[in-house]
Parts: sequence; C-alpha cells; structure tokens
Amino acid sequence: MIVMAGIALQAGGLDSLAQNFEGIIYIINIQNGQDIYCYNGLPGEPWLFPVGSTIKPFTALAALRKGVWDPEQPFCCQPAPIDSPLTKRCWYTPGHGVLNFPEALAHSCNLYFLELASKLDYKFFLEVLEEFKLTVPDNLRFQNQTQKLKAMVGLDYSLLLNLKSLLRAYAALINGGILFPENNQTPNILKLSHDNIFLIREGMRLSATIGTGIKAQEVVGETPILSKTGTAPYCMEGRYIPSKTHALFIGFAPENNPVWGVLVMAKEGMGALEGAIKGGQILKYCLQN
Ligand SMILES: [Zn+2]
Repeated sequence: MIVMAGIALQAGGLDSLAQNFEGIIYIINIQNGQDIYCYNGLPGEPWLFPVGSTIKPFTALAALRKGVWDPEQPFCCQPAPIDSPLTKRCWYTPGHGVLNFPEALAHSCNLYFLELASKLDYKFFLEVLEEFKLTVPDNLRFQNQTQKLKAMVGLDYSLLLNLKSLLRAYAALINGGILFPENNQTPNILKLSHDNIFLIREGMRLSATIGTGIKAQEVVGETPILSKTGTAPYCMEGRYIPSKTHALFIGFAPENNPVWGVLVMAKEGMGALEGAIKGGQILKYCLQN
C-alpha cells in the first residue's frame, strides 16, 4: 500500500523495492525535512512499534549529558549462557570483549548499554525522548526497575514509538539538531553537544563498517553510510509473540554530508539481516537517482 509517492526521487524504482514487502519504508530528506517516500505494507497497523536497539543513541545521549557515563572507559562484554535473563547478558552470547563507546553502539552491545542504563535516572531518559518528540505510551512511565532497564536498551515490547517520529529524531542527531516536524511546520532547533553527537555519529559510522549495519554497507557499495539496527520484540495488533522479532534499520547517506534518511521495519527478522539488506537497497537507490 503506497501512502505517498516520491517527490525528489522517481518513485517507480522504490515501488519495485517495496513490492510485497511486509513492513514499513520511510524516506526523508534530512536537510529540509521533506517526506520522500512512505510505504506501509502492514495494512491496519498504525506506525507504532517496539523499536529495539534503535533506542540506544537516545539512552546514551541522556547518560552522556548527565555525566553518569564515561565514554572513554573501556568495558568488557563477557560471554554468558543463552538461558540467563536478558538483563544479565548480551544478545551476542559469546561476548563482544572489550569495547569503547562507539564500538558498543556499532555492535549494539546489550551488556554495555545495560550497564550504562543502570547508572541513568529513568526520568532523564524520558526527558530526552520528549525533547526529540518521541511520545511514549503512558504505562511506560510507571515501570518497575527491570522494565525501565529493558526499555532503555530496547528489550521492552511496551516501548512503542511512532516510526516516522523516530526517523525524524535520528535526523536531528545527524543534521546538527534540526528536528523537522511531519507537517512542514517550523522546525525545532535542539541544543546538542558537539562531543556527544560526534560519539553517536562515530558509532553509526562504525556500525556500517564493522558492526550490525555491515550488510547495508555491502549492498550500498563504496559510498560510506551511517547506520543503526534494531531487533525488536514482536508485537502486532497489540499481541506480543516471544519467539519472533521485528527488524529495524535506520540509515543515512552519504556519510560525509547526509541527505537521505531511511527507516525500514520488516515484520519478521533481524535488524542486521532483513533490516540492513532492505535498508542498503533503498539507500543505494537514493544515491543513484
Ligand atoms: Zn555485547
């Protein structure tokens, strides 16, 4: 179901990339906020979904701002048995080993971000989301400590965000703090520290070169991109299914002066696979057309 066709791009090629795709594709120009392409192949579903690890840059920003986390401090992601609780282990059970901040973001290391989130007052996390116009469901404000931790690293299926707002929030991280609203109204200018944004951006650059976004870069080819992936708890029509996951991918290109911002959500799969491959195909198309 095509909701809106391309303006600056020829929509035909995008339509063929979107054909029969069970998921969501959203493209904007991050320099002027213009909607470029908007596809929802999940009829009857609103744009609200669990967002998995794509929440991590905002958790990180809150912790860095409050000075509760030292990004220079190396952290060791240890191996853990697969049956240990999600809040005690990384998604990568062999362990990522020693990581700095950008590497942890690039690999989306859960243990690193669980430790970071454990130092952060939850209200500052919610404040950052509010600043970026990411509206959270009301019940998310009244969680127990474990649920708060899970929300801050993207493991909680009740953290549902509007995917259009999510891409626009990321665009503000990348374009120097310009938060474009959806309806072409006056943008909000966010005060973001250059150092903090540099760290997040470096994590997204590394994601595409050594981390979970590598499949997207392989598809795009030579032009460097920025990326972040997410493998989110599966929740359709309000029903959570623990055995399945949604794939998310957010990417920007070209890396040195990003114009195109792309969000892909695939109904089933992993961010680093289904999300990154489709996201790479779309970024490649944007760069070539
Ligand atoms: Zn890890």
